[in-house]
Amino acid sequence: AHLARIAAVDTDVHAFLHVDADGALADAAASDARRASGETRGVLDGVPIAVKDVLATRGLPTTCGSKILEGWVPPYDATVVTRLREAGLPILGKTNMDEFAMGSSTEHSAYGPTRNPWDLDRIPGGSGGGSAAAVAAFEAPLAIGTDTGGSIRQPGAVTGTVGVKPTYGGVSRYGLVALANSLDQAGPVTRTVLDAAMLHDVIGGHDPRDSTSIAQEWPSFTEAARTGATGDMSGVKVGVITELAGEGWQAGVMGRFDESVQLLVDAGAEVVEVSCPSFVHALAAYYLILPAEASSNLAKFDAMRYGLRVTPDGDPSAEEVMRATRDAGFGDEVKRRIILGTYALSSGYYDAYYGQAQKIRTLISRDFDAAFGRVDVLVSPTAPTTAFRLGEKLDDPMAMYLNDLATIPANLAGVPGISVPNGLAEEDGLPVGLQVLAPALADDRVYRVGAALE
Ligand code: GLN
Repeated sequence: AHLARIAAVDTDVHAFLHVDADGALADAAASDARRASGETRGVLDGVPIAVKDVLATRGLPTTCGSKILEGWVPPYDATVVTRLREAGLPILGKTNMDEFAMGSSTEHSAYGPTRNPWDLDRIPGGSGGGSAAAVAAFEAPLAIGTDTGGSIRQPGAVTGTVGVKPTYGGVSRYGLVALANSLDQAGPVTRTVLDAAMLHDVIGGHDPRDSTSIAQEWPSFTEAARTGATGDMSGVKVGVITELAGEGWQAGVMGRFDESVQLLVDAGAEVVEVSCPSFVHALAAYYLILPAEASSNLAKFDAMRYGLRVTPDGDPSAEEVMRATRDAGFGDEVKRRIILGTYALSSGYYDAYYGQAQKIRTLISRDFDAAFGRVDVLVSPTAPTTAFRLGEKLDDPMAMYLNDLATIPANLAGVPGISVPNGLAEEDGLPVGLQVLAPALADDRVYRVGAALE
């Protein structure tokens, strides 16, 4: 049914870069056989899933939305993908994304944009617009995204889907093509909070192949979502972040947010306002730290090891091949960030830019520590506006970066966050998202409060 739906709508939506119909059908048949013999591998056995094209999939192309990886077929699976296969989920295909996960609209994909199923003239968010659109358009019941600065949560907000960024280290990064190693986390993209929790239970947990993976037992997120779904929030302390609301935020986004805060009060939660003064510098710090890490990561695309190789005429040196390949293989946004990142890391400027940004990162963590000393969870709107029109911000990088205002602090501090659908904005009838943030390791709280809001 999902393959038929993809065939019917994906010419318009363009959520997928690659569909593996044969593989998905074979896996579904194997799952049916297990079910018939009573050997099912758990609740999600046989439930199809779409995977963002930044995770390595054995035998399936993995492009990261870039021409430089065109034609690359990984010889191995990311740990997240291994766990999906072990739990019996057929993989429908790979989803579109901004090139190397840089962007907030999926317009930076080298393979053309994904469109928002709510309005095909609008963006589905980014960088994981493909995963969010696939779920919103009923092309897949579940998807995997990755969130470095909001790329799971912001697409969730503007497509009316659920997106979770786990605690840093909660989900293995093995086989995830790194954008910024200290910020990246893979997580669930779904239509309900309970679906996200069940998927998190499958993909999460310690992995010895990722040195930053946390070696501990995690509570059942499915249980946490079930508890939250009862709607009783008594005893839960909720903080509304002063810096992530008010002026500059779309009126319809704030309207829905205020209503949901009132719902939490009605459900018995204690709601207070909490100031996180360093959050106003989060965007500036992120857009130094991320390009710095990305410029280092992208150095491996040298025309020798993976994907594309452009050989200029004559008898070119290795360096000339590398230059021609990168010139043709990387898009404008990727080049912009490589230049920014190498500049921020260069010896004369390191202290002034990268060093300062790291200090702000520490201050943001301290703001979270102080806030979570007073409240159990923090809430804010996920994104400042509803989905904007394709092309509207494409030539204005600053306007594009501003979409990440509310999502970035969680990545800088490593804390978990969820975006849950929060109704439609009054002025344009488009989906709005509400974000719930919790202390590191307390991912169960985002499921509990998220499910209560559903
Ligand atoms: N929009 C942010 C950026 O462009 C977030 C990216 C992400 O989370 N992968 O960097």
